[in-house]
Amino acid sequence: MAVDLQKMEEKWQKQWEKDKIYKFDPKSKKPVYSIDTPPPTVSGTMHMGHAFAYSQQDFIARYKKMQGFEVFHPIGFDNNGLATALMVEKKKGIKSKNFSRDEFIKIVLKGTEEEEKKMIAAFKSIALSFDWSLLYRTIDDLARKTSQYSFLDLYKQGRLYRKDAPTMWCPSCATAIAQAELQDKEKDSSFVYIQFETTDGEKIEIATTRPELMPACVAIHVHPDDKRYKKFVGKKVKIPFTDGRTVEVYTNKDVDPEFGTGAVYHCTFGDLDDVKWILETNVPIIEIINKDGTFNEKAGILKGLRTETARKKIIEELEKAGHIVKQEPIKHVVNVHERCKTPIEIIGAKQWFVKYLDLRDEYIAKADELQWIPPYMKKRLDNWINGLKWDWNISRQRHYGVPFPVWYCKKCEKELVADEKQLPIDPLKTKPKGKCTCGSTEFVGEKDTFDTWFTSSLTPQINCKWVEDKKFFEKMFPMDLRPQGHDIIALWAFNTIVKAMFHQQKLPWKTITINGWALDSKGKKMSKSLGNVIRPEEMIQKYSADSLRYWAGLPVFGEDIPFQEKEMVSGRKFLTKMLNANRFVSMVTKGKPEKIDKKALLPEDKAILSKLNRVIKEGTEAFDRFEFSKCLNPARNFFWLEFADFYIEEVKARVYNDKGASGKTAAAVLQEVAWKTLLLFTPFVPHTAEEIAQEHFKERLSGKSICLEQWPKADESLIDEEAEKIGEAINSVIAEMRKQKSEARKPLNTPIKKAVVTIENAKNLEQSAEVIKRTMAVEKLEIKKGKEFSVKIEF
Ligand SMILES: [Zn+2]
Ligand SMILES: [Zn+2]
Repeated sequence: MAVDLQKMEEKWQKQWEKDKIYKFDPKSKKPVYSIDTPPPTVSGTMHMGHAFAYSQQDFIARYKKMQGFEVFHPIGFDNNGLATALMVEKKKGIKSKNFSRDEFIKIVLKGTEEEEKKMIAAFKSIALSFDWSLLYRTIDDLARKTSQYSFLDLYKQGRLYRKDAPTMWCPSCATAIAQAELQDKEKDSSFVYIQFETTDGEKIEIATTRPELMPACVAIHVHPDDKRYKKFVGKKVKIPFTDGRTVEVYTNKDVDPEFGTGAVYHCTFGDLDDVKWILETNVPIIEIINKDGTFNEKAGILKGLRTETARKKIIEELEKAGHIVKQEPIKHVVNVHERCKTPIEIIGAKQWFVKYLDLRDEYIAKADELQWIPPYMKKRLDNWINGLKWDWNISRQRHYGVPFPVWYCKKCEKELVADEKQLPIDPLKTKPKGKCTCGSTEFVGEKDTFDTWFTSSLTPQINCKWVEDKKFFEKMFPMDLRPQGHDIIALWAFNTIVKAMFHQQKLPWKTITINGWALDSKGKKMSKSLGNVIRPEEMIQKYSADSLRYWAGLPVFGEDIPFQEKEMVSGRKFLTKMLNANRFVSMVTKGKPEKIDKKALLPEDKAILSKLNRVIKEGTEAFDRFEFSKCLNPARNFFWLEFADFYIEEVKARVYNDKGASGKTAAAVLQEVAWKTLLLFTPFVPHTAEEIAQEHFKERLSGKSICLEQWPKADESLIDEEAEKIGEAINSVIAEMRKQKSEARKPLNTPIKKAVVTIENAKNLEQSAEVIKRTMAVEKLEIKKGKEFSVKIEF
């Protein structure tokens, strides 16, 4: 009988929602287990990565619930960033800057409702056990208040400073960006060899990929050991088209004498080396690029142009003036903004920074106290921290986002921060309380907004209501678990750790699990441009949500796995097996749990009970280590290959024909094994487990749902290696007989007149002769001792 899996799943989703089985009860006496769920960007669609990672997190949430924890499983939507603003602007045909922030925030919250609804429905369709009543948005009042409060707290601690600093800048997005938002990209370019002249009339040649920055050239660097340039050190070099401006030649160990001509020109700023050198040489900064990416009047003949056109123009002019020696096409790696792929520029701008470089060693040491699953992922955090070069620039020149709670005095420019009680606040709309130390009462509000990670790094504080409910926060913080992807260890995990260390002097969680990615069947990342995106909805339609969850339960944490449709097929097959085997069990045991009489157990019963309890014991230990696949895989193999394929067949005759102790015992064992394995499967395939529980084992249920049942405890007194060995021997004899019957093209119930089994441990198997005879309809069974295992049958 085929079951409509999709219909069944919908039915249970509705029922669970009605019964509020995922609701967190803050008054519960149970110990809390809390999960700091990654808030997805509101896009309206659930992709395979969501389905994969959130399912894995859900296994843990459901397991902890069954282990007796009051599970706090909140979810939020991340909608304070650029992606959301652009989505809403596009959808509504409006521009955020034409609205006040409050207005635009309202428009965003309203404008994303539809997308949120779609995502909520999609997440519900794979039975993610979030408590939706806890839903937050990273732009809502609570998130803004928390984020601004974090700013005030850091300000008080002296962890914030504002300065005109070389800042990595995206000319296309017109905003400062952080180191973590950089991406390397290989670009075709040309290496231009330019000849300069010293004031003594000597020629010196440099090579550069950025000739357009020449008006910002402030020095020339050569390696101290480079004999070719010894005589130039300390001399003045004339820069063309600058009315005779000169720069000095310095020695610098960073210069590679083998690269280009061995002489490098230092511009403010071409790259990160230029920023470093400015601190070492005391040369002036000449800023020639505006925030919109155009060149300013200091760029002289390049004024008004942009990087690419400026480059063409300067090459033309230098060529005319006879300064170009040669040009070589090269490929080189440039830093681009990961979002728009525009090469970044480095410009000076007033920005707020979180001072955090001084504590690098402390972060590394503190993060060692975290439980990392898998442990090797910690290395990625360490590498990131060791490579940090800049303090955290949190200013974004964006209208939409969480505003800085800051004003500046019109008279003396000193900053004034908001009062806690004013939060959340928009300084463009609200005036500060009080006056400046200079006496002035006139202020301008900060126009910039926070880097989106400044707020995302506070999800534990948002979830635990840091700024709203101190008592709740005390109880809930730190959280137990942060599940997240490996791609945002540097951004999300790191910044969250830093924030919690600053604000609470604690780690934000006890454990961090790093999930892998769902790749396409060939192991490539799924992306729209590659056309290899597989939609989870389609897979649910075709195979069921539990099949998808089953697939997500197979790999270990951190592993990227290719999506293979055949695994959906095998998932569905497994669900069907579960439904069918349990239907049979229920039919012969009539649903009522019977007490097992240990004295009446036959060898096959002892074997299956031993194995069951071993699977429970080892599966539980694995789950406690977050290795859920080491619970699912053995439980599935046990259920399918040992219970359904053998044990059920071996005891059929007993439960049908024997009304005495043997029949009763077999029925009781059948139900015990079926029920406990069903509990093991519940976190993974909750719909199917619920269907079976409600249909067949209603009397075993202590509450409304199998999802609320206790996780099974292993009865270690039943674990018996010797019994399992006998069980294995029985099964291998039966398997061999089945094989021979099938090879002889006989139906499985064909009687066997005589069978001779040769087996090493014959004595033990002799006690089990009955079960073999019964199961395979053997009239005469002879068991002989021998090294070589063999089964000979006669029909
Ligand atoms: Zn950009
Ligand atoms: Zn002032």
